[in-house]
Amino acid sequence: MAAATLCAAQQSSDANKPKDGGAKPAAKAAPAVTYIKAGKLFDSTSDSYRENVVIVVEGERIRAVEPAAQAQIPAGAKVVDLSKATVLPGLIDCHTHLGGRADQYNPINAFKNTPYTHAFAAEKNAKITLLAGFTTVRDVGSGPFMAVDLRNSIDSGYIPGPRVVASGPGISITGGHGDLNNYSPETSVTLFPAERNYQIADGPDQVRHVVRAQVKYGVDVIKILATGGVLSKGDSPGAPQFTYEELKVAADEAHMAGRKIAAHAHGSEGIKNSILAGIDSIEHASLATDEDIALAKQHGTYFDMDIYNDDYLLGKAIEFGLPQENIDKEKMVGQAQRETFQKAVKAGVKMAFGTDAGVYPHGDNAKQFATMVKYGMTPAQAIRTATQNSADLVGRSKDIGTIEVGKYADIIAVTGDPLQDVTVLQSVGFVMKGGTVYKDKLAGTATVE
Ligand SMILES: [Zn+2]
Repeated sequence: MAAATLCAAQQSSDANKPKDGGAKPAAKAAPAVTYIKAGKLFDSTSDSYRENVVIVVEGERIRAVEPAAQAQIPAGAKVVDLSKATVLPGLIDCHTHLGGRADQYNPINAFKNTPYTHAFAAEKNAKITLLAGFTTVRDVGSGPFMAVDLRNSIDSGYIPGPRVVASGPGISITGGHGDLNNYSPETSVTLFPAERNYQIADGPDQVRHVVRAQVKYGVDVIKILATGGVLSKGDSPGAPQFTYEELKVAADEAHMAGRKIAAHAHGSEGIKNSILAGIDSIEHASLATDEDIALAKQHGTYFDMDIYNDDYLLGKAIEFGLPQENIDKEKMVGQAQRETFQKAVKAGVKMAFGTDAGVYPHGDNAKQFATMVKYGMTPAQAIRTATQNSADLVGRSKDIGTIEVGKYADIIAVTGDPLQDVTVLQSVGFVMKGGTVYKDKLAGTATVE
């Protein structure tokens, strides 16, 4: 209260200053205008290209999208010539852990790493992710409240990175996917014991409290762990964690605060409880039954399925010390999840694009497109999942997800034809976020890379 009063007093004293006294603010410069010539444009509002289009970017946003023949480009204007490339909206990954490292699978790291280990990783990974063409990510699970700080540091222009839709720690039951299990009771790793690290909650009242506490510290989205997991110790991916009542309280509290909520859920009962509780997206959804798939479709619940990383977990991660328990669990859900994906696509469940980057190396996010195509999507469908659909899931369709007038100029380009070969998205050559060029290996404009 005192701070608010002080602030109001400050404002009124500023307002009372004589208008001609002191330094005058410089006249505000007109926002920069850039003309992007797109040979092929996949704007993600349909499944096909538009040919020879000019995108007019003014400041952070798109002012016009028009046929090149009609575009009037003034002499001396800034032009980005992507007429030999394919231009698309910036990609969106709804399931990342920017503070996570894909070279640390030995459980000893839980005791060796400090919060700074993850923060340094997040700064590096944010940049790698942006330069890979992902201009927005949802970060779903990190220490309190690293993702919020990361989002703020990026938004203020201090460090480069994608737009971050930030969660706090994934909320877990005692002994659940987010807890430190099967060590001596004398062992704990926590920064905030009084708040159980803003993570562990049992019963509707504690769940309500931790959601409110996370909102208090600025999260954009709530992540809750509704079943066991693959990379945790002592729990089973198929088994539910949290009751329906607890999940319902979490969803209602999140929605009351204007936040979306994502549930980690591999097993059927956890998936069903999450859908019925009104949760917005099911992360993983590995073992969803036909009945769960029908229920998701009926409720308009998104599935956000990380179907690429099985390749990495059963490959490189083993060399980095992935324990046998986790290998066994991945074998249990990895292939089953791909088959579930295929069924869910066929049934018409709303799909978002989420990869669990951090479990595999950041920057490889686009490798998942090929797996999605292999398991039943068309390339256009996979790309629209990672743009239009994902923007809808994070509640930002007004600003991102398609190339349309009024949206942020989050624009990428590749050489080649992603509708023929979706793997060309693994080598994004041009990245603009909010009108600023971060990478340009195609047209040769200045970048801030
Ligand atoms: Zn995850």
